[in-house]
Amino acid sequence: MIELDHVTAGYDGVPVLRDVSASFRPGERTVIIGPNGSGKSTLASVMMGLLTPWSGQVRWQDRDLQSIPVKDRAKMTGLLSQEHPVPSLSALRLAMHGRFSQVPWPRSYSPEDRQKALEALDRAGIRDLADNPVSELSGGQRQKAYLAMLLNQDPEMMLFDEPSTFLDLPSQRQLERTMRSLADEGHGVVAVLHDLSTALKLADRILVMDQGQIRFDGTPEELLKTRVPEEVFGVRILPLMVEGQREYILKEADVQGA
Ligand code: ADP
Repeated sequence: MIELDHVTAGYDGVPVLRDVSASFRPGERTVIIGPNGSGKSTLASVMMGLLTPWSGQVRWQDRDLQSIPVKDRAKMTGLLSQEHPVPSLSALRLAMHGRFSQVPWPRSYSPEDRQKALEALDRAGIRDLADNPVSELSGGQRQKAYLAMLLNQDPEMMLFDEPSTFLDLPSQRQLERTMRSLADEGHGVVAVLHDLSTALKLADRILVMDQGQIRFDGTPEELLKTRVPEEVFGVRILPLMVEGQREYILKEADVQGA
């Protein structure tokens, strides 16, 4: 569980998040959406302890994040972002690093560690590239290697910041299935997404960010009953069933007075 309690935060004296309160729970898929610059990544940074709030509090499992030693944090939360360093390691080594990211060099790995990392690579869909250097992987393959690292880390709360940026369509769908199953297994899954229809399909709960504040916090069904999509994104959302599956058409909202 991650809680933000009246958090204000920003950069160089300029506030971005203003008095934001929200909680993120295990077993739940929460999707954060909002226009560019609305503060989604800043919210993600604050949640992960990468950016310190100016005021308010961030709590992980009822503990003030500031009081949790950095070495204990990897057990509780992990992040898959869209940009990664490119280490001179194999994909397998990178995945193994997930379990020991806090342990100083030199590390020694047991056959069990190797097996766990291979399982994570398998689940991420790149077991066949285990021995390839991360530096020689494509953007999408590299994203999967970092996903394997997160899966191997296995923290309670997992945050995905625009995770599909480099993924082709089948890989995006696979990642969505993985995120669903992670939540079913009891992980808290929090995703920052820009694609509204993916967000509606994936989320148990949606947070809409707008100008550094949370404009909406509720289920996709509840969101559809509001005017928030029109007011924040300028679209109307039309749900429909296609071959037994819920799909969403986004239609540009009529501009008032046009
Ligand atoms: P989003 O993820 O919704 O696109 P961000 O949280 O990245 O929004 O950005 C919100 C605002 O904060 C923007 O005005 C952006 O320019 C600013 N910002 C983001 N990161 C930084 C940074 N590292 N330094 C200074 N300003 C930043």
